[in-house]
Amino acid sequence: MSQGCIFCKIVAGEMSSSFIYQDDEVTAFKDINPQAPSHILIVPNKHIGSVGDASGEDQAVLGKLLLAAAQIAQEKGVANRGYRLVINTGVDGGQSVSHLHVHLLAGRQMSWPPG
Ligand code: AMP
Repeated sequence: MSQGCIFCKIVAGEMSSSFIYQDDEVTAFKDINPQAPSHILIVPNKHIGSVGDASGEDQAVLGKLLLAAAQIAQEKGVANRGYRLVINTGVDGGQSVSHLHVHLLAGRQMSWPPG
């Protein structure tokens, strides 16, 4: 757990959130400021600042994040229509919370290129 990290606090249950899923490696909860009808964040329980901070020992949990996102999309009934997974990284990537997270966005037509 990283001191002062809001996502670490959510993972630990020390900060309220709308939990979707949790296991030994990952936690999923609703984004507080949804950008789509369904907007869920999937995070590693271990504090990893960004995908750029991940190392070889994080290989399994990186895969788990994507598998959990696909599973949640199935369970939420959005998999057939489709969805977008986003990992913002660093300042130019638009990352505002320094705890690696996958955005699962669904329920509307996405546009490209992203803003
Ligand atoms: P990013 O800009 O990619 O770092 O995404 C951070 C996301 O975390 C944003 O979409 C925020 O709305 C979301 N967020 C920030 N604080 C919370 C919180 N306490 N609970 C749920 N989502 C949050």
